[in-house]
Amino acid sequence: LPELPEVETVVRDLRPYLQGKKIKKLYLQPGASKTLQGTIANFNKAVCNQKIISLERRAKYIILRLPVGFISVHLRMTGRLYGQRPQVKDLPFIRATFELSSGQKLYFQDVRRFGKIKYWPKSEPFEERLGVEPLSDQFTKEFLQQLLLKSSRQVKAFLLDQKSIVGLGNIYVDEALWRARIHPLRKTNNLNPKEIKDLWLAIRKVLQAGIDNCGTTFDSFYYGAEQMGKYAKLLKVFDRVGEKCQRCASEIIKIKVATRGTHICQKCQQ
Ligand SMILES: [Zn+2]
Repeated sequence: LPELPEVETVVRDLRPYLQGKKIKKLYLQPGASKTLQGTIANFNKAVCNQKIISLERRAKYIILRLPVGFISVHLRMTGRLYGQRPQVKDLPFIRATFELSSGQKLYFQDVRRFGKIKYWPKSEPFEERLGVEPLSDQFTKEFLQQLLLKSSRQVKAFLLDQKSIVGLGNIYVDEALWRARIHPLRKTNNLNPKEIKDLWLAIRKVLQAGIDNCGTTFDSFYYGAEQMGKYAKLLKVFDRVGEKCQRCASEIIKIKVATRGTHICQKCQQ
């Protein structure tokens, strides 16, 4: 599932291609009505002839900012956006195609069909469900401390919940908790100031390193023309069950937390 670094990678890759172009129309493939939230008629009425002022990321959403409102694209499990159509004769599982006034296109491919496209005339209903951006200046140590102390949830469940802090998913939460030496089942309001500081730093470090390496590719994340993220080889615990912890040489194990497979070092994270 693409997390903040993967979505940021897609945005950076597509930005030069899309920025400044005008949208003519969206086409939905037969059977792809679930890909678009709202009707195609209303969507096209709203976006027709609008220029893409900028391409941005908010949480795990790709945002096409328009003069009036914006389009959000959520990739979910298998969604991919292609600027130039790759050199494949029949690109399978295309669910939607944006026609741009330049004659160029933007393709939305989605094998599993969980991805979503939506037009928002205003930002309030979109923003009110989303927490703070962890790489923004607003996300200070003190801010994280306040959030953690207000909650009494297990720290992993808390970090996965997009209402407090956005952008983190299973991979980067496991990596951040290992780095901060915090067990994922710990209660947020039981963390001490040193642990909170370490967690704050760890979240920012793993996300920034993820972006710097163009994300993590296991099976389904690619960007651009079939390019893979390079962060997978830098992971410390995620997908490393049975390997040795790089800090203490204990074995990495997998447990279940918040219904998710969770990777920890038993010795470093007690
Ligand atoms: Zn360890």
